[in-house]
Amino acid sequence: MIPASFDYVRAKSLRDALNAIGTDGTKVLAGGHSLIPMMRFRLAQPGRLLDIGQLAELKGIDLKGRGARIGAGTSYRELLDSPELAERYPLIAEATRGIGDVQVRNRGTIGGGLAHADPASDMPAVMLALGATFNLRSKGGKRSVAAADFFTGAFTTALASDELLIDIALPAPPKKAGMAYASFEQKASGYAIAAAAAVVTKSRKTITGVTLALTGVGDRAYLADASGAVGSHGDDAALEAAVANVTKGIDVNGDIHASVEYRSHLARVVARRAIALALSRAG
Ligand SMILES: Cc1cc2nc3c(=O)[nH]c(=O)nc-3n(C[C@H](O)[C@H](O)[C@H](O)COP(=O)(O)OP(=O)(O)OC[C@H]3O[C@@H](n4cnc5c(N)ncnc54)[C@H](O)[C@@H]3O)c2cc1C
Repeated sequence: MIPASFDYVRAKSLRDALNAIGTDGTKVLAGGHSLIPMMRFRLAQPGRLLDIGQLAELKGIDLKGRGARIGAGTSYRELLDSPELAERYPLIAEATRGIGDVQVRNRGTIGGGLAHADPASDMPAVMLALGATFNLRSKGGKRSVAAADFFTGAFTTALASDELLIDIALPAPPKKAGMAYASFEQKASGYAIAAAAAVVTKSRKTITGVTLALTGVGDRAYLADASGAVGSHGDDAALEAAVANVTKGIDVNGDIHASVEYRSHLARVVARRAIALALSRAG
């Protein structure tokens, strides 16, 4: 379908964008790979698009220190083109490689993916597992929101209507941690039917820490409890038991791709796979 008519403005500077955002009917446009399809289906009908795609202030990857800062306007392609980022956070590259197709990765931005908060998108789970903090800004000020508090429901986040996601701050990964992303995805789009991001630490052969996040399962990406794996050697039985309750308290989606029962099963499968793979990479 053709979108309803709208005005288009290109922000020339961050200040420009912050002055314009929040005004009636204005929606921010980054890579457009989520917003434009929504407009074509008339699920979104903004009166005005504010294009932030050219803003240098929102782009780039800063790896000074032991953590990282990623500009919200950085494309998936630019993430993949950074060997330094892949070395420090291999989880990001592993998940990003599976996002959409070449066009989607060339145009889509990490900030757009996070702000859009599609319940099946990949990056929210990765950011949860890495303990990211999102830096937001409006004309009136700045604030930071932990990834764990950012995703509030399907396609909804803690972003206020006059706020922009500016960048993402990642803490240093735990020493010698192994990381992995395991996705059972819908073949046509690459979106997760169920996917898991895991960060695992070990001492000798014993697991000392697991951070696990799931996406595609409920109305938003979430941190799941797999602490039962700690103290084990990560053998099949231990991991099976550790992921038994990863959908506990979650209203699991049922749709044309997977029933509630099947998706719950897949959630356990991808959780186990991600932890096992992360463990094999730890140390
Ligand atoms: C065919 C196809 C396959 C795809 N497959 C996958 C997949 O496998 N996995 C996956 O995770 N995603 C997938 N996507 C989605 C893709 O990753 C999107 O491009 C991305 O999620 C949105 O980024 P964008 O830059 O295109 O954002 P846009 O579409 O421009 O914007 C999306 C939303 O975020 C808001 N927004 C954007 N930037 C900011 C900001 N800095 N601050 C505040 N709000 C902002 C916009 O106002 C809008 O509401 C797919 C998309 C397509 C078309």
